[in-house]
Amino acid sequence: MSGKYLWLLDNGHGGVIDGLYQTSGKRSPVWQDGAVLYEGECNRGVVNRLMEMMTRAGYRYINIVPELEDVSLHERVRRANSYHADNECIYVSIHSNAGGGRGYEVFTSIGQTRSDAIASVFIEEFAREFPEAKMRSDHYSDGDLDKEADYYVLKRTNMPAILTESFFMDNEDECRKYLLTSEGRERIAKAHFMAIKAIEDMA
Ligand SMILES: [Zn+2]
Repeated sequence: MSGKYLWLLDNGHGGVIDGLYQTSGKRSPVWQDGAVLYEGECNRGVVNRLMEMMTRAGYRYINIVPELEDVSLHERVRRANSYHADNECIYVSIHSNAGGGRGYEVFTSIGQTRSDAIASVFIEEFAREFPEAKMRSDHYSDGDLDKEADYYVLKRTNMPAILTESFFMDNEDECRKYLLTSEGRERIAKAHFMAIKAIEDMA
């Protein structure tokens, strides 16, 4: 089996180098037992698991930010676009949310594009994997379940592009249940994988 698409996986923010988190902000509060989640580390944990699943299934992917350093959004977009000339690409940026709330959401750029159908598949697979969790959607835009936002990476990439926000790192229940645990990260990766599989199966 081999896939139709080249999936461009973008783990948002930076990782941890020599114990030093590379991104200011983008972390959970320090919980009472001292645990703290660094979003970029968690995003890498999800992408690494997702890549293992995709390798097993024979799907094609590129981790566009393999390094632990934080890479500018401009550079992320430049890398993504550089693959698009010779491949049919789909860009997936992987994040966790903050700012008070709970649940998961999937963003596309504003307006009806091919990304909307892709985002809908991701939302369906998140709902299947996390029936106990909350889907956050944007009822006032176009009737789709995805949220639309003016994110730089969604606007400037020249292929279908989505951005997933898996749970809220500043919600202690969600942070502990999904983001700080191996099991939670595995489930987040699986939800992404099942969406990729569904889209590949349709191709
Ligand atoms: Zn983020």
